[in-house]
Amino acid sequence: MIKLEQVSKVFAMEAGHFTALKQTDIRIGNGEFIAIMGPSGSGKSTLLQLIGGLDLPTSGSVIVDGVTLNQLNEKERTLFRRTKVGFVFQNYQLLPMMTAAENIALPLAANRAPKSEIKSRVQRLLRDVNLEGNEHRFPSQLSGGQQQRVAIARALAMKPQLILADEPTGNLDRKNGRDVLQLLSRLNKEEGITVVMVTHDQQAAQTADRIILLRDGEVVQEGQEGVERR
Ligand code: ADP
Ligand code: MG
Repeated sequence: MIKLEQVSKVFAMEAGHFTALKQTDIRIGNGEFIAIMGPSGSGKSTLLQLIGGLDLPTSGSVIVDGVTLNQLNEKERTLFRRTKVGFVFQNYQLLPMMTAAENIALPLAANRAPKSEIKSRVQRLLRDVNLEGNEHRFPSQLSGGQQQRVAIARALAMKPQLILADEPTGNLDRKNGRDVLQLLSRLNKEEGITVVMVTHDQQAAQTADRIILLRDGEVVQEGQEGVERR
């Protein structure tokens, strides 16, 4: 599903440059649930951005679902992001002036789905994330856990095979964090969606099949295969 080959990412800055990922090799299989861990600044978010085609490597290849992302043009990469990947962020990134339903509908509307189809799909997604009855609420009228579930529903709108979640429980209390993890785990197990999740929370990481540990832009440990479910 995901293959990084000798991937480096160098950020150019006024004061010189900074290497956020150093010739990294990573393989993630279809249907895996992966936790990415490591200290702050170790390259976790950078890694997720490269896998999701939000950014390009300085060198090396990023291959997702057979597609070499660094060989796509801008337009192809945008289409890849919109249709193949669902993104979930720590701060939810919902649009505050739109209702829950409108936020969830965004990717479908951007893809010019017919109105009737959007409506039924949004209802279905609200049900899937256990938010029925909240469709007309604005993000400010929802709890953090509910907002994150709206964000997950939006990530699912285009039926992606891959969810990339950057500290999805980072702003949530224990109970809401657990609900969000359970939801991601269910999507992984029941829908077969590959999940790559950055987390600081050791307990959250236990939900995953495998932990990839980064330090200073390098993979220092991969493992825990088979501990939980496989
Ligand atoms: P993590 O998510 O593990 O905390 P990041 O991937 O966000 O780490 O960042 C890794 C390193 O790369 C950090 O030192 C960060 O300051 C640097 N970095 C990330 N993005 C940029 C950028 N756009 N420009 C310059 N440096 C960046
Ligand atoms: Mg980060």
